[in-house]
Amino acid sequence: MAEHHPQAQVHPVPDKIAKSARVDRERFEELTREALENEDAFWNRIGQRVEWIKPYSRIKDVNFDLDDLHIRWFDDGTLNVCANCVDRHLDARGDQVAILWEGDDPERDEKITYRQLHDRVCRFANVLKRLGVGKGDRVTLYMPMIPEAAVAMLACARIGAIHSVVFGGFSPDALAGRIIDCDSKCVITADEGMRGGKATPLKKNVDRALSNEDAADRVDSVLVVRNTGNDIDWDADRDHWLHEALEHVDADCEPEEMNAEDPLFILYTSGSTGKPKGVLHTSGGYLAWASWTHEIVFDYQEGEIYWCTADVGWVTGHSYIVYGPLANGATTLMFEGVPNYPDNSRFWQVVDKHQVNIFYTAPTAIRALMRGGDEPVRKTSRESLRILGTVGEPINPEAWEWYYNVVGDGRCPIADTWWQTETGGILISPLPGATDLKPGSATKPLPGIKAALLDADGKELEGATSGNLVLTDSWPGQMRTVYGDHKRFGETYFAAYKGRYFTGDGARRDEDGYYWITGRVDDVINVSGHRLGTAEVESALVAHSAVAEAAVVGFPHDIKGQGVYAYVTLMAGREGDEKLAEELIQWVREEIGPIATIDHLQWAPGLPKTRSGKIMRRILRKIAANEHDQLGDTSTLADPEVVENLIENRRQV
Ligand code: ATP
Ligand code: MG
Repeated sequence: MAEHHPQAQVHPVPDKIAKSARVDRERFEELTREALENEDAFWNRIGQRVEWIKPYSRIKDVNFDLDDLHIRWFDDGTLNVCANCVDRHLDARGDQVAILWEGDDPERDEKITYRQLHDRVCRFANVLKRLGVGKGDRVTLYMPMIPEAAVAMLACARIGAIHSVVFGGFSPDALAGRIIDCDSKCVITADEGMRGGKATPLKKNVDRALSNEDAADRVDSVLVVRNTGNDIDWDADRDHWLHEALEHVDADCEPEEMNAEDPLFILYTSGSTGKPKGVLHTSGGYLAWASWTHEIVFDYQEGEIYWCTADVGWVTGHSYIVYGPLANGATTLMFEGVPNYPDNSRFWQVVDKHQVNIFYTAPTAIRALMRGGDEPVRKTSRESLRILGTVGEPINPEAWEWYYNVVGDGRCPIADTWWQTETGGILISPLPGATDLKPGSATKPLPGIKAALLDADGKELEGATSGNLVLTDSWPGQMRTVYGDHKRFGETYFAAYKGRYFTGDGARRDEDGYYWITGRVDDVINVSGHRLGTAEVESALVAHSAVAEAAVVGFPHDIKGQGVYAYVTLMAGREGDEKLAEELIQWVREEIGPIATIDHLQWAPGLPKTRSGKIMRRILRKIAANEHDQLGDTSTLADPEVVENLIENRRQV
């Protein structure tokens, strides 16, 4: 198909940013060249970001072939990740704020300096030790966004325990499944969490999860943070209050010397495409990559206030709230609440209150706020903002422009960062001081990252083209295995294309070498033999002034093979009728071409999303195909009612 791609407006690097940037154009070229011509020197530069106990002598030992699949970096070095994030800053910036906590309730906040963080982490680590947790043990965290969540992660890292953070919005069943999968001996939780003024019964959910015998058999102790102070049930043999346990420990806790390849954490993927996978990350390479990418992608400068709005239950929270920023000695803002509580201005009020310089969020939040109009943004200053970022899904150019012009007042570069739970850190992204921006494009691979596009047969495609996105070589932050299932690791990521890591995503590369992620390869629609990326059709829909959000899937079609089925959420106050449906269908045909003719358009008051806010197209595909009795794994679905509503309305078609 003659693909039609409207000429993107280019936003050049602002002079002011370029002048002071950590990486400007010239430096970017140098780094890229070094990574190609002198690989060892380049990776050694990344490895040197870590303070090693025993320096490594080997840099990289990687084989992507299925019969001997292994990934090792800096593998004879030793370190402690917690010491790298906390102890090493004590001399130079002990009194600087490490964690700046903003409560769900706008009246509540807390500043924790590096010295205070050190004290809290050491005591917490000693509590874990007293509960019998040691090196290599798995600990499940089921926490609200309070400082103890980060403290608990760092405490695990300090004693060499492997944390598995489960998002606090997950159900007891989902929690039990994850406890069993990684065989956790300890669960850390809070009585309740607060989000948007509502309490979530975290401890109660843990009790329910542990009513599953399989889970209960594994867990010796549940450590509970008193957060809201409301009543909870108690099992005296198993449950421990953190504040009581802390009375019996001191603040001396030597960090455990860990090998670079010792596991740091397990984290389950979002479940957008199927059953979540227990992604395993190790210590040295992961930390080096999180630290380096945090610095260059956000152009982080000493003393800046940095805010990533993710939850620690997602990889973004791991790499870019906790490990990356703290390794770099940054002040990282941790937010307990939601974007629309008490009202739609909350994010920007927090930005003004704490004078945030760098702000990193997800397209789902941007689209939701865009739906509420400009006014809640405009009435705040946001003058402190310098750099913006997004992650999680393709961002439609429409939402990008709104983020850029309204939130950033046309002044702040946007880092559209493509990466995955599996990649540990950002792989494709612009650098604020080096890359001209095209709205909707994650732009170029970072230095050292070997991205390629393949056709279905595994042939590497050159130049401007579309294909399946792979990485042909490793980077230090890459996942090492699926926990407990190395075979699944191979089958999932290395079986499709021999010797290459398959991301599962499709992408287009333009004449400037910029990458445009078109969505998951499973989501591509094949209309009369032509491949149509869902992201493209969705972007066209969202570009219409009546549309707030859209999801597009294929469905079986007698003549075309697959037809195009669109679910459309309208802007607040708009009503969907036959006339508007016709108009939208015509609009998309004009934007993309006749191949993108929507066969069926359904109004959707809401779209099914994962709890991290990503659209679950696999569920929409089932509804479109009238197979709603086979929805598959729905444990990560945020709001089941949305699905019921869509099924109900589908039936009437
Ligand atoms: P699962 O693997 O369980 O189906 P998931 O892929 O949603 O879930 P994550 O690891 O949280 O789990 O998300 C990574 C995916 O998110 C990427 O593979 C890509 O599809 C999408 N993504 C992330 N960032 C971007 C971005 N900047 N642009 C486009 N897509 C993105
Ligand atoms: Mg995935």
